[in-house]
Amino acid sequence: AKDEGGNRYRFFTEEMNREVRQRVELEAMLRNAEQRNELELWYQPQVALSTGQVVGVEALLRWHHPDRGWISPGEFIPVAEESGLIGAIGEWVIGRACDQAAEWRGRGVLQVPVAINLSAAQLRGTGLPAVIQRALGRRSLPAEALQLEMTESLFFEDDVNVRTAIAELQSRGLQLAVDDFGTGYSNLGYLKRLPLAKIKIDQSFIHGVPEEPEDCVITRAIIHMAQGLGLRAIAEGVERPEQLELLRQLGCDEVQGYLFSPPAPAAALEARLAEGGDW
Ligand code: C2E
Ligand code: CA
Ligand code: CA
Ligand code: CA
Repeated sequence: AKDEGGNRYRFFTEEMNREVRQRVELEAMLRNAEQRNELELWYQPQVALSTGQVVGVEALLRWHHPDRGWISPGEFIPVAEESGLIGAIGEWVIGRACDQAAEWRGRGVLQVPVAINLSAAQLRGTGLPAVIQRALGRRSLPAEALQLEMTESLFFEDDVNVRTAIAELQSRGLQLAVDDFGTGYSNLGYLKRLPLAKIKIDQSFIHGVPEEPEDCVITRAIIHMAQGLGLRAIAEGVERPEQLELLRQLGCDEVQGYLFSPPAPAAALEARLAEGGDW
């Protein structure tokens, strides 16, 4: 029995070592990803329900490693955040999104905001508003060219850097969207304190629509609350026509999801837009 315990312990530490090694390896790979041109931004349209027009585009980070293939942001963003690499990667995202926005505007393809995702770690570090300002300025882009998506918890952080950064971004005219709404804390006070632009209803609720009554009730309540506060409500993860139909009945402002388009490289999205498509 003593032996067995020893083995189990050894097995446990080996398992832990393996996980730590994998993490260290991923971090090392990620450290080089940007300079080796392994990172890309893919884009997913956001569609206004009333007009069927594309009113925004969300940029989603993609990493293609030569040996490991595609590695999902769900896997590498947490590693980037914990290792501090998110600062550099996030700056690359901001620059790339601005390049794309400038290119689309220049050719008259799309004038809508490109929404980028921001991590808490990016806002905790100092200087993010200046980085964004410079990125816009260098390409002569107005603040409306970018939109910033952040999860709820960021809006009531105690960290003074975060509070200052949010206030500064808003005063510079950047639109802020609350991502994954309904999955964070229930402290809603920040919604009246901060001039936000929109609320993204988390896809975990949308997936249950219209079959699950609870998900429908929650979705309806979020839409009403957002609109009552003068914010736009957008549903993410819309995959089926039944979901779209209910969201239409509930008066949701915007939708985003595989039903319209998965995230795709800029050229593929452009081709889709050129086709016209019945969004
Ligand atoms: P998110 O911001 O909530 O992004 C939505 C996720 O849902 C994306 O996953 C998107 O590809 C996926 N999605 C879109 N439509 C549908 C649909 O109809 N059905 C389903 N099942 N999924 C859909 P993705 O691209 O794997 O990104 C995962 C998360 O990684 C993002 O969640 C975001 O939190 C983070 N992330 C992605 N890019 C960046 C980035 O540039 N910076 C930072 N800090 N985080 C990022
Ligand atoms: Ca997002
Ligand atoms: Ca989301
Ligand atoms: Ca998310």
